[in-house]
Amino acid sequence: MKKKMPLANKVFIALITGIVFGLIAHGIFSAQFNDLLVKWILNPVGNVFLRGIKMIVVPLVLCSLICGAASIGDIKKLSRVGGKILSYYVVTTALAVTIALIFANLFNPGAGLNIPLPTEYKAAEIPFIMDVFTNMIPTNPIESLVKGDMLQIIIFAILFGISITLIGEPAKPLLNVISQANEIMIKIIGIVMLVAPFGVFALISKVLITQGLDVLLPLLKYTFTILLVLLIQVLLVYGSALKILGKVNPIKFYKKFWTVMVVAFSTSSSNATIPVNLDTCQKKLGVPESISSFTIPLGATVNMDGTAIMQGVAAIFIAQVFGVDLNLTQQLLIILTATLASIGTAGVPGAGIVMLAMVLQQIGIPLEGIAIVLSVDRIIDMCRTVVNITGDAVGTVIVSNSEKELDVELYNS
Ligand code: ASP
Repeated sequence: MKKKMPLANKVFIALITGIVFGLIAHGIFSAQFNDLLVKWILNPVGNVFLRGIKMIVVPLVLCSLICGAASIGDIKKLSRVGGKILSYYVVTTALAVTIALIFANLFNPGAGLNIPLPTEYKAAEIPFIMDVFTNMIPTNPIESLVKGDMLQIIIFAILFGISITLIGEPAKPLLNVISQANEIMIKIIGIVMLVAPFGVFALISKVLITQGLDVLLPLLKYTFTILLVLLIQVLLVYGSALKILGKVNPIKFYKKFWTVMVVAFSTSSSNATIPVNLDTCQKKLGVPESISSFTIPLGATVNMDGTAIMQGVAAIFIAQVFGVDLNLTQQLLIILTATLASIGTAGVPGAGIVMLAMVLQQIGIPLEGIAIVLSVDRIIDMCRTVVNITGDAVGTVIVSNSEKELDVELYNS
């Protein structure tokens, strides 16, 4: 009997063919034809996949977090795991921005660049950083679910799960219902993922058809600096974190994880990647549900190393374009604000660039500079989202192993 090709391979083939097709179509077809292609085929196919996975995110995060928090069983353990994962998230993000600043200072991507200022740019309203924290607490959890406010859903679900544990036996029937709903959501992901190869192909080729790679040219040094630091973060920082802190083989991790990376790349959304990330962590990397159901949605919302890297490089780049000299204190301030800004960034496409305004404002760099980097941000967004979600899974593996709950056999299989 012929063996069926694994889904992961199909997704990978879709990624490569999508890139090649997009570039060829951008180069040889007329703009009119490409418009029709995008409108009638690529957009609808891409949207079916994108909407399919987004459909699962809110109910899945709610059910899986409640089950996770209830099954951890004791509050002490929950706060220990929470403490570990949050420290990991903050330290890796600060490290990411630091590396970004080192390379941005080395390469000087904005030096000598004379870019006329686009006039149409209007800065979005910048949130006050403390509000980001107080707003984590929902005043109406139903509204949070409707709006898909991840951080608020996380807080509510954890409290819900903890309360189930505190009530004990009488709350068991409800927990059973929620855990069955959770199973059902995971089944739905399996079904939606069947169209992933088509969705990935459509999403990727659409970006390349509409943008082409030549949009990257004027800001090539800027783009290159970011991509290089993203690569360093994935290979060196996460690789050594897995090896040293997690005591596991990093190559095994990436072999199993790249389907999740492709989904992040094609959707540019950490939130949309939560379902596949959870599934891969639990079924392939041997992470227990009780830990991953808590750390993955949390990470998708607050841990954005790729975004912080972009914000760090962009701040230096824009300062150089405007001829603003940044001293050491200002650069340290960038590390602090980019770390906070990335925490406040939502896991949706393009959110990181909005929060960049916060970083620029703190150090007094003209906000109009955002308009300059905006032109290349679509493709950078795809790449940084990959780093964002990889960091979450790496942290989850490390914390699970430190709790002696990683199924090492499954991880190595
Ligand atoms: N698109 C990114 C994400 O979802 C956020 C960003 O724009 O940096 O992770």
